Formats: sequence, structure tokens, C-alpha cells
Amino acid sequence: MIPDKIISAIKKYDTIIIHRHVRPDPDAYGSQVGLKEIISDSFPHKKVFAVGEEEPSLNFLAKMDDIEDEMYHHALVIVCDTANAARICDQRYNLGADLIKIDHHPNVDKYGEIMWVDTSASSTCELIYDLYLYAKDDGFQLNDRAAMLIYAGIVGDTGRFLFPSTSKKTFQHAAELVTYDFDRSRLYEGIYNIQDNIARLRGYILQHFELSESGMSSIRLTREELEEFNVDPADSGQLIGVLGDIEGIQAWVFFIEEDDQIRVRLRSKGPVVNDIAAKYNGGGHPMAAGASVKTWEEADNVVDDLQEACIAYSN
Ligand code: AMP
Repeated sequence: MIPDKIISAIKKYDTIIIHRHVRPDPDAYGSQVGLKEIISDSFPHKKVFAVGEEEPSLNFLAKMDDIEDEMYHHALVIVCDTANAARICDQRYNLGADLIKIDHHPNVDKYGEIMWVDTSASSTCELIYDLYLYAKDDGFQLNDRAAMLIYAGIVGDTGRFLFPSTSKKTFQHAAELVTYDFDRSRLYEGIYNIQDNIARLRGYILQHFELSESGMSSIRLTREELEEFNVDPADSGQLIGVLGDIEGIQAWVFFIEEDDQIRVRLRSKGPVVNDIAAKYNGGGHPMAAGASVKTWEEADNVVDDLQEACIAYSN
């Protein structure tokens, strides 16, 4: 069993360094730091680090560790929630002695000596809790902080238990996790409170979106618009779900203009969108995927592809 191999590797190494993907979300932080908490609480003599660029909007969950390259010698590296190697935050991940991948996205890059990829899991945090259940008779412990982090990731990646990826097991894990001592209300505030500039940009999007006959919508947020609303492109994640509740919508795409690229964020309620993302060197889940393009002409091509997928889906 793969979890058994992961448990043996964790027991074997004295230094364990945990990575996750760039532009982290609560599932990336939750799985990475939740696993760190489990290991360091269960094995206090081990050195366990969570590395990667800080994401200020997730500082309420955890702070990253700053480590020297030497730490990687003889270390076990575990990468959480990251389908392709290019998106691993902190590319030193391959300096370690052993590499493990734990993820719930389709297996784009097969990196690591041990790979635990389960696309039926709602989130990587769900897998981390599975891992704890496998390992608890082996002395692994879960403290309140780990429970909070894992719960945060499950909530984040299931859209508060709304997305179809939410299974009976997801609810069972959540039911066990809420028995730990952490402040759920504060956690929800941390994840979902938005600043007034984001709220105003949301309003602008809701006033201006267009919906094609096939149920497709595309939103372009240019640098000028983002500046006008004083919104950093990195904070655009809080806007993507805004179209999801609109009747008739099948799939939608946000284009967010950054300094040197246009970020593509695709969402769907039926048509598969990760193959469209893959066509533009991106990836993700069938119903939530992303990519980057260089020009607005390329963005037009993404719109055409999405339109086609919506038409094919309706027929
Ligand atoms: P996002 O729109 O960034 O929330 O991403 C939605 C899903 O697509 C997540 O599962 C991401 O991991 C994945 N994703 C986003 N951008 C990329 C990319 N450039 N390459 C591969 N996967 C991506």
C-alpha cells in the first residue's frame, strides 16, 4: 500500500522538507503545514520544515520556514497538492535524498520515488487525514492545529462542501476534525472575508458579464481595470466563483492580466475544462483548471475552445 510506504519513509528520515504549489490556496497550505504538524508532533526529535514563498492572504494559517540548501542533504522531500513539477514552489525539491508526491489532481508529471495520487479525493488535505488514519496506530498524532489546517484545506477545495468532489468520506473526515479545538468562525473569516476593493470589483463583474447562448462566459480583467479597483492580480482568486450561481451558466473563464502574462482560470459545471487548460500548457481538475497565455489573441482562442466545449456539452 502506498500510504504504508509513505509512513515508512517518514519514520526513516530525520529531516523532512515539505513543499506545495506556487500561488497556494488553503488546500496547498493546509496539506503542507498540516502534514508538518502531524510529523513534528508525532516525532519531536525530527526536523520538519514547510517551505515556499509566503502568501500574505494565508498568513493566518501558517508561516513558511526559511532553510539553507544544506538541509536537503539526506532529507526526505514531500510535495503536496502539485500535479506538475514546474509548479512546485521552491525548485530545490529535487535536492533531497527521496521524493514523495501526494496529490489529488490528475497525474500530469510523474515525479517522485513514491507517488500517492488519488483524484477521487476532494482535496489533498483529505489524503493527509487518510494518511493520519493509516498511521495513528503507529504512533502518529494529530493536534488541534493540524486538524484546523486540514479542515481549512477541505473547506477551501470543496467550496464549503458544495462541489461534487465532496464525498461521504469528506463529511466523515470533517465530522471528526471539528471535534478538535479550533475556532471555526475565525477560520471561515480568514478564508472568506474580502476587502472592500474586491467586493467592488465583484460588483463590476456581475454588472458587466455576458453569457453566450451555450452558457459560456468570459471575463477579462486588464491591468488598467485591476489598477482602477486597486486589486492585485494575486487576489483575483476571490473573484472566480462569482459567476457560479448564475442560472444558465455552464462554464466560464477569467483572464487576469499580470506583468508578463495573462493568467487563465477556467471553471465549469459540466463541460470538461482541464483538457482546454492542457492545450495552453496548463492543467488542473476537470471542473477547475488554469493556464497562462501571452497575448489577448491566445485568450480569444481559449474562449473559442470553451465555447465549443459548452456547445458540445449542451448537444
Ligand atoms: P486556479 O484557477 O489557480 O484556482 O486553479 C484551478 C486548478 O487548476 C487548480 O487545481 C490548479 O492546481 C490548476 N492549475 C492552475 N493553473 C495551472 C497551470 N498553469 N498548470 C497546471 N495546473 C494549473
